[in-house]
Amino acid sequence: MNSAWSVEFLRILVAFVSTVLFGTVSELWTLSVVIHSTLYISWNAFQLRAFERWIRNGAPSASAPDVSGVWELIVQHIYRTQKSNKDRKRHLSKLASHYHAVMSALPDATIVLNEKLEIEWANKTSQRILGIDPARDSGHKLGNIVRDTVINDLLESSFSEDEIEMISPVDPLKHLSLAKIKYGEDKTLLIARDISQRIALQKLRKAFIANSSHELRTPLTVISGYLEMLDCDEDLPPSLGKIINNAHLQAIRMEQILNDLLVLSKLEEKGYSENSGDTVDVPALLKRLVADFQKTKAKDSHQIELVIDESLFVKAIENEFYSLCQNLLSNAVKYSPPGSAIRVCWSLTEDGKACLRVIDNGEGIADEHLSRLTERFYRVNVNRDRKVSGTGLGLSIVKHILENYGGYIDIQSELTIGSTFTACFPSYRTQQKE
Ligand code: ADP
Repeated sequence: MNSAWSVEFLRILVAFVSTVLFGTVSELWTLSVVIHSTLYISWNAFQLRAFERWIRNGAPSASAPDVSGVWELIVQHIYRTQKSNKDRKRHLSKLASHYHAVMSALPDATIVLNEKLEIEWANKTSQRILGIDPARDSGHKLGNIVRDTVINDLLESSFSEDEIEMISPVDPLKHLSLAKIKYGEDKTLLIARDISQRIALQKLRKAFIANSSHELRTPLTVISGYLEMLDCDEDLPPSLGKIINNAHLQAIRMEQILNDLLVLSKLEEKGYSENSGDTVDVPALLKRLVADFQKTKAKDSHQIELVIDESLFVKAIENEFYSLCQNLLSNAVKYSPPGSAIRVCWSLTEDGKACLRVIDNGEGIADEHLSRLTERFYRVNVNRDRKVSGTGLGLSIVKHILENYGGYIDIQSELTIGSTFTACFPSYRTQQKE
């Protein structure tokens, strides 16, 4: 048994023996019981008072009450619990200051917002790139400190993991990428990263491609012109004629690639506002496109069926829209067998988007390629696709045109069954004519 309890029991035993002795000697049993009980209770009350005072003063370890028996045991327990709490607190505060130091040293601005989107905590980088002073702005609404509609849209959007780009409110030369992460109960972590270097590199890459394509075009036109002349020369020996013809075809292909690269770099520079563009009479445009196709292709090469909503128009730039439709239709023709049917549908979806669907019964595309089709120069079957005229840039152009208008492309395909390419324009670009 614990020694403190032994002492306590000994004390009770002494009180009991003393009660019995006093009772036997004096024959005043009641008085004996009352006196000894009172003594024992008073002693315990005294200990309890000392103990309560000690607890009331915060139980300081330096001035533990001078108690004994069970009371000493209780004091020891409290002291031990207190010590382990202190150790835990020290450990936690060490951990907290360590995390604080790590978060402060992060190269990205990190801001913790509460459910009212008020700043709870921000690191030093937030001041440098967003102008948020952690000491001054804590407790204020972020929207009042950084006045930019983009940031408000991000914070108010219901998607928990969105990302946007914006110009730094502190330095207009800085481009920032902002991401929000929802955590806990209604807390938001906002992370802003300086992406100026990446944007500058992208610009450099785009400028390089645009300039080199532009510079290469002139000499290539000259070479292609000479090759065309030689190709038409009937006096050439047949062995040379084949080589010249091949070189001419390759020069034409290179011209196509350069032209597509220039189109792409122009598209990348653009980014349209919601109201940009004119009303495009899509039904008339599609009919013209199909007629043009049927003129250039061998008769009955493919059966193109048009299913169009005659009243559905779209706000866009006509030649861009034409190029988008042409790319999708020419792919359907290229990658499906002659004589097969192709369907071109133009309709409004239930949620108000205007979508163009080009459906073919061609060779189809395996699943693993679908997500990469809109990458530049991506071709499914490089050896086979080389034999089919094309640059590998068509779908990339389609995707860029759509993105500039706030739209998207969806590709569904099944090997040997066929493919469906759907190009959708957002509802704010659609127009319904009576
Ligand atoms: P390309 O000039 O090679 O046609 P695109 O960017 O238009 O370039 O298309 C990329 C690749 O996607 C093509 O090389 C082809 O492999 C595949 N593809 C595109 N459209 C179809 C289709 N309708 N059916 C099957 N494969 C297709």
